[in-house]
Amino acid sequence: MASRREFFRSIVRPVTGEKEERPLRVRPPYTVKESLFQSECPQCESKACATVCDEAIIVIAADGTPILNFTQSGCTFCEDCAKACEAGVLDLERGSESINALLVISKERCIAHHGTICFACKEPCLEEAILFRGLFDPVIDPDRCTGCGMCLSRCPTQAISYRTLESVEA
Ligand code: SF4
Ligand code: SF4
Ligand code: SF4
Repeated sequence: MASRREFFRSIVRPVTGEKEERPLRVRPPYTVKESLFQSECPQCESKACATVCDEAIIVIAADGTPILNFTQSGCTFCEDCAKACEAGVLDLERGSESINALLVISKERCIAHHGTICFACKEPCLEEAILFRGLFDPVIDPDRCTGCGMCLSRCPTQAISYRTLESVEA
């Protein structure tokens, strides 16, 4: 199983706003490679990955491929989507164990950074990836963050957003 860094291209690749041929999307965990979404998912009638997700974070985009929506919840890595995918797009053995998203906290929007005690994002993070330097300086450690997205909807000031990481095609 490839590590997060091996699976996704440079984790510090900045978001430049440059035009991409295809916009990068946040995909479910256990993704084998990005190109399989285009070749297999549009003709998949069941869209089983989305229907089995108890967190209801998998939505089907206009092109018929699954993407993640963290606005209500995040991924528990329950494995159900991969078990349901019969086309091998999501695969427990060959896919990534993490999600191609890197969560970031905006210092401008975060109330802790402005002197209010708040641990709303820290509590749901099972990876302990949200590090408080003192009481008022939370940062997300990219080496620990799995991209699960659980912290995003917990923030009362919508200070958490994400960058999309690019899969390294095998
Ligand atoms: S079940 Fe598999 S093939 Fe079908 S939409 Fe989901 S990922 Fe694609
Ligand atoms: S692993 Fe579970 S919670 Fe995460 S996207 Fe798949 S079905 Fe949803
Ligand atoms: S910081 Fe924690 S809760 Fe937020 S996406 Fe990363 S692992 Fe998940």
